[in-house]
This record gives sequence, structure tokens and C-alpha cells, in this order.
Amino acid sequence: MDADKAEFLKEFGSEYGYPNGPKSIDEIRATEFNRLDQKGIVYLDHAGATLYSELQMEAIFKDFSSNIYANPHSQSDSSSATSDIIREVRQQVLDYCNASAKEYKCIFTSGATAALKLVGEAFPWSRESCFMYTMENHNSVLGIREYALSKGAAAFAVDVEDIVNGGGVSGGQEARVKLSPHAIQRRNEEILEEEPNRNAYNLFAFPSECNFSGLRFSLDLANLIKENSERILEGSPFCKGRWIVLVDAAKGCSTCPPDLSKYAVDFVAISFYKLFGYPTGLGALVVQNDAARLMTKTYFSGGTVAASFADIDFVRRREGIEELFEDGTISFLSIASIRHGFKIINSLTPSMMSRYVKNMSGYCGFIVLC
Ligand SMILES: *Cc1c(COP(=O)(O)O)cnc(C)c1O
Repeated sequence: MDADKAEFLKEFGSEYGYPNGPKSIDEIRATEFNRLDQKGIVYLDHAGATLYSELQMEAIFKDFSSNIYANPHSQSDSSSATSDIIREVRQQVLDYCNASAKEYKCIFTSGATAALKLVGEAFPWSRESCFMYTMENHNSVLGIREYALSKGAAAFAVDVEDIVNGGGVSGGQEARVKLSPHAIQRRNEEILEEEPNRNAYNLFAFPSECNFSGLRFSLDLANLIKENSERILEGSPFCKGRWIVLVDAAKGCSTCPPDLSKYAVDFVAISFYKLFGYPTGLGALVVQNDAARLMTKTYFSGGTVAASFADIDFVRRREGIEELFEDGTISFLSIASIRHGFKIINSLTPSMMSRYVKNMSGYCGFIVLC
């Protein structure tokens, strides 16, 4: 064991375990993950989901047992204090993605899957639309094609080729998107022969990091598709439509959050247990305002309506983007708790976490494609 450690430190010593952070990894493990030593367990942090820390849970307990959080839909001082905290946390999520609050909104969901499903459900599909996604994708993204196909849209998978760097998909001006031969269509062939509709909306989805292979996709892909779809998709009937881009950042977000000040991404799906372990069952859809306005919501429910009648076909929906898409009472206690998770991430910093995970993966012999 000691010989292994010496060997490891010889190779990675200068970068091992947050050397410039507030605490070393050995201190972190002893004070915040004491239960691992007690149970004799090794946990490869941030490689899949992150493990919640003991300090984080203590801070949440202290917060919840000394403050009163009430349903934000009610009228009371506690409710309005809770609403203020939720507003603050929405801002924290936007800041994490470097997204301007003027341009983006944070919609809370029950997870990344629910965020992806929401996009599929509310996207303005038409018979001229297309859903294009990279071959490497989570099932939760592939499921969106059921919505697309049921509205008569086409769906197909693509391989992304990078001719600049050879390894990894790093994008850049020379990046090429090659259409895969595996188109999935359930509609009449003659529709494809019709004049393509320039006003149709198409959706392109890719993960910022694949949770299965660890492959990272550059967000340059978003800019490329939006600005150069005619060149990239030359010959395809969909090259002239308007492209909306969805990034599944459920995995990538834990060590490499998307920089939305640089990339024209319309939707980002996030999962919080992947970031800091607790809470489970909470995610977010970060959505660009114009893209949010294209979405059509069918279901209405408590929280999403200003008024509705049981015996008349009348419903007035709420105006705000968040209110329109968050069905029922949002998980306000879970939302209040993520401030304590962000505190940890912000002290370690995502870039140091990313370096740490890369070293650990290298040491364990995993293929690191980034
Ligand atoms: C974990 C994960 C999901 C699903 O996230 P949930 O919050 O569990 O629904 C989707 N996509 C990727 C890439 C993931 O890693």
C-alpha cells in the first residue's frame, strides 16, 4: 500500500489532491468523508456521481433546523424569504454556467432526465423538423426522438469527426460533422422531397461529457451547427432550418461546467447529485430566453397557472418562464440545500477537480479522452 502510494506520488505528487486548495485530499477524506475510512471503502470521486460530504450535510442540517422554509406559493414572511433564497439559487446555477441572467433562465426539474424530457415535450416539432443527436448520448436524450417522431419529424444520429486534433472531439473551425447512415424515420418518404421549410425548428443534442466513455465534446459544436448548418449538413433537407442546441451537461457539469458566455447553447440539462451528491431528485434546465419562448407547454398545474376554471375551458398561465415550466410546488427544501453544495465546489474549483479526476483516471488506467 505504502509502496503504491510512493509510486503514485512520484508520478502525480505535484498535482495530487488539491495542493493549492484550502485542504489536501487526505484532510478532506479524514474530516469530510470519515465514513469511507470507517467502512474501508475507496470512492473514485467525481468520476460518476459525487459523494456528499459530511460537512455539507451538517451545514444543511444546521440551516434547516435554525431557519423556517415555507412553500413559496403561500403568502407569509417565511414564504417570501424562501422565494428570495430560490431566486438566489437560480442565480447561482446561472453563474456556475457563466450565463447572463438577462439571456438565460434556470428552470428547476426533478433531474437531468426531467429537463431533457421537458425539451422533448415542449419543442415546436413539425413535419419539417429534425432531431439530430450524437451517437454518444444518454438514453434520456435518445428518448426525445419519440416526441419528434410522433409529431412527424425525422430523427438521426451523427458521428462527430475532428480533423484537427485526431483524438478527442475538440471542435474548432475545422471540426466536421459526418452524418451517420442510421437515420430513424417513421414518416412518409414524400415529405422529404418537399421543399424544405426554412422556418422549421430542428434540435441538435449532445453531451458535454459522455457518462459512459468519458469523451468530452467541445461546445464549439453548438456554434458550428447554428452558424454553419448549410455547410455541415450539405445535401440534407434539414440544412436550411433553424437549429436549436441542447447540451446534456449532467455528467460534464461536475468538473467542467459549460461557459454560456462563449457558446450559443439554447438548453443545458443539469443534475445536482452529479455535482455534489445531495440532494437527489433535483436538476435544472438552463434555457436561453428566445428558445424558451418557442416552447409550448400543454399541461397546466398548481404553480404554472394564474387562474383556471373547472367548468369552462379557460386557463391563464403565469408569465414568467420559470413559473410556466415548473409544475406543482418546486422542491424548495432541496433547492435551498444546494447552496451548501456549491460552497464546496467553489472552494475546490471545477478546474482543480477536473485535473484531479484526470490524474486519478490516468492512474487507474482508464482511457482519458479530453
Ligand atoms: C446521469 C446522467 C443523466 C441522467 O441524470 P438524472 O438526473 O439522473 O436524471 C443524463 N445524462 C448524462 C450524461 C448523465 O450522466
